[in-house]
Amino acid sequence: MLGHLVSDDAAAMALALQQASLALGHDDVPVGAIIVRDGVVIAARHNERELTGDPTAHAEVLAIRDAADHIGHWRLEHCTLYVTLEPCTMCAGALVNSRVPRVVFGASDPKAGAGGSVYNVLADARLNHRCEITSGLMQHECGTILREFFAKRRKTPTSTGPASTDSAATDAGNETA
Ligand SMILES: [Zn+2]
Repeated sequence: MLGHLVSDDAAAMALALQQASLALGHDDVPVGAIIVRDGVVIAARHNERELTGDPTAHAEVLAIRDAADHIGHWRLEHCTLYVTLEPCTMCAGALVNSRVPRVVFGASDPKAGAGGSVYNVLADARLNHRCEITSGLMQHECGTILREFFAKRRKTPTSTGPASTDSAATDAGNETA
């Protein structure tokens, strides 16, 4: 996926969706993100919070780190980040701090979204950088993979017991569109 040329926003979001599906392999909430610079994919990651036990291992943060490594600088000029779910406050903050010019997201997150749904960290006039936002691209596909994940998880109690089931329910409320 890295180094791929993408012709338009839809092609880029399709790759982000592919990333999202990879998170299912380790029971992470299926969110994927890619970063495109001058038409080339320079980062492609998915949520690894369960896999790594790292609460900051959201797809966007991991992709930002990879892109900065690739460019050799923290400032992600000429980049667009595509993510299947509206960024949370942490990821939106990271995007502002990386000066990403443009963010494209699929499904909205009415419970925790920071791209306009609950907060608009991405485009707050009080901050020193604002991202151009395109929302709702392939939102049906991006939302469906999340809904299916949470529906399946609610039906299948995990081996770690009730505490985990509780947190799954909370996550469903916080993370599905
Ligand atoms: Zn996040």
